[in-house]
Amino acid sequence: MSKALMRTAARWRIPRDLALIVISRDSRCIYCNQLFESSPSPRTKWASWEHIVNDEALVDASNIALCCASCNSSKGTKSLEKWLESKYCKEREITRHSMTPIAISGLLEPLGRSESPQERRLNEDL
Ligand SMILES: [Zn+2]
Repeated sequence: MSKALMRTAARWRIPRDLALIVISRDSRCIYCNQLFESSPSPRTKWASWEHIVNDEALVDASNIALCCASCNSSKGTKSLEKWLESKYCKEREITRHSMTPIAISGLLEPLGRSESPQERRLNEDL
């Protein structure tokens, strides 16, 4: 599995060192917690590269992760917050509390996304 992942990492311009760190960290989907499987299991259970915040410029261990192909195609280009409200997440009971810590931290940090006035005020208070 990891050989194929290293190939797709290159396609997403994810540096080899970072790809290795993420592969050893994420043995299950960061969203639905399913353990990854590989062929001959259905492709939906395979690991796939995920930018937690949809910004290809954010290439570090806090934004690059592995999720199952099923979650990846459901999330698409939606923001994490928006996706959590989807039918897919509701059916699978994927919530901001059920996700793995790496996915949860993607929610809390305003990584690369513009902050709302409330968020800015909160951050200034810290
Ligand atoms: Zn998943």
